[in-house]
Amino acid sequence: MTYFRHFFIDGQYYGSGEDKIRFVHAEAQEPMPYAMFCPTCGEIWARMPVENSQREWRIIGGYCEKHPGVSPYVVHGSLILAWEPDLYDCMPPEMLKREFELHLRLWEKEIVERS
Ligand SMILES: [Zn+2]
Repeated sequence: MTYFRHFFIDGQYYGSGEDKIRFVHAEAQEPMPYAMFCPTCGEIWARMPVENSQREWRIIGGYCEKHPGVSPYVVHGSLILAWEPDLYDCMPPEMLKREFELHLRLWEKEIVERS
């Protein structure tokens, strides 16, 4: 079975990438569709449905691009999840570009605040 993860942010389509089975404690699991929920504005700002997966959606807390949260080191708007490295592997080029720009913004913020 081939799985395809699609990426939608604020209703805009960013493309898809091939996803794969995960092995959790030696159990094969289909990739899970994710929705990102911003704890500041209460919006579901990103959706990552998975074509051909029978798993139910999981809602993940994550600050949207408009709301940075309280920590200066949060890359708000990012879909990279530390506990889900396979997600990064299936991001299409448009998503990787977006992630790079979001992380670069944090770097620029650090340079400006420290100089
Ligand atoms: Zn928000």
